[in-house]
Amino acid sequence: MKQRNLLLFGLLVIPILVFGQRREVVGMKYLDENRRPIYRENVIIPNVGEYQVLKCDFHMHTVFSDGNVWPSIRNQEAWEEGIDAYAITDHIEYTPHKADVNVNHNRGYELLKESAEKSNLILVKGTEITRNTPPGHFNAIYIDDATDFIEERSTNEFDREAVMKAAEQDAFIFWNHPGWQPGIEGSYEWIPFVDDLYKNKALHGIEVVNGFGIHMKALDWCLDKGLTVMGTTDIHNLVAHDYDFSKDYVHRTMTLVLAKERSAESIREALDEGRTVAWASKYLLGKEENVRNLFYSCVELMPSHYTEVRNNGIKINHYEIRNNSDLYFELSLSDGSATKNVVLYPRSTQLITANEETASLSGEVVSTYVRSDQHLKVDFDLN
Ligand SMILES: [Zn+2]
Ligand SMILES: [Zn+2]
Repeated sequence: MKQRNLLLFGLLVIPILVFGQRREVVGMKYLDENRRPIYRENVIIPNVGEYQVLKCDFHMHTVFSDGNVWPSIRNQEAWEEGIDAYAITDHIEYTPHKADVNVNHNRGYELLKESAEKSNLILVKGTEITRNTPPGHFNAIYIDDATDFIEERSTNEFDREAVMKAAEQDAFIFWNHPGWQPGIEGSYEWIPFVDDLYKNKALHGIEVVNGFGIHMKALDWCLDKGLTVMGTTDIHNLVAHDYDFSKDYVHRTMTLVLAKERSAESIREALDEGRTVAWASKYLLGKEENVRNLFYSCVELMPSHYTEVRNNGIKINHYEIRNNSDLYFELSLSDGSATKNVVLYPRSTQLITANEETASLSGEVVSTYVRSDQHLKVDFDLN
């Protein structure tokens, strides 16, 4: 009996020691009620056809450039906030902590490689090429080695070579926050320098959303030139310092990547093919096809569950419209006679009605942009 008790004790106690935060010490009282619970948030977005929707943030800083945190914090945040893949993209040309932190452009990635693997996150190696504006900044991800990138930026002379260092490594390169310094001529224009990169296949995407700013002109450039739409935090502080997580539905800005598999290779393939949607606040921005496919994967109109006969004999059908995702949609729907504004909160259902004669409901998803001046148009067949 004694041995069996020991065995039971072992089974019960060992998992607690492995997964618990600490050992109990006799003579200590612990105030665990004041700890913030630690868990990974599952951001629910249904598959889009054959693709998984991966939550990615490929623009973040640490103390290895001008960020305020050690790299390990970035992994903790990404894990807790439901991110699938991320990159540390410290500046090559701007390292204000260099008196205290050795300049090593690969170090953020090296320090995180193991913790990313342990927490089942995909870490992509990246950097921010930080030229003066214009042309401004470019992120290069899927690089091999940032050691020999060009730190010198006292003149514009090396701008092209600086970006080409990344292109030589077959990086995925995107133009960051165009228009971030509005006072400077050419800072928010499709300038010859950028056009040259584009024509030489050294530019693959643009940040349509950087943190709390939407670059509407960048959305149109992406659509017109076949570039990939990106959304990133460009976070320098703690994410929870900058984003108000005490409010409902607040999430960090990110890129939703429609990938065949949850792997670095699949994400790269999707980025190359432009299968992304930027998700920031309540907005979704991207190529119409991607936003449309994402919308119809998340939102469904159920068959009518009730028919009401009014005094004048007119029959009104009642429907449920369901949002099966953590995304937020605002619809402006019209049945030919009236427009209804419908807010589909994350993982929720609304009731809508339509005259039995009505064949379809059509309208716009006003929380989406498929051009700077255009929302996604949707149609629901009622028959
Ligand atoms: Zn930047
Ligand atoms: Zn940055």
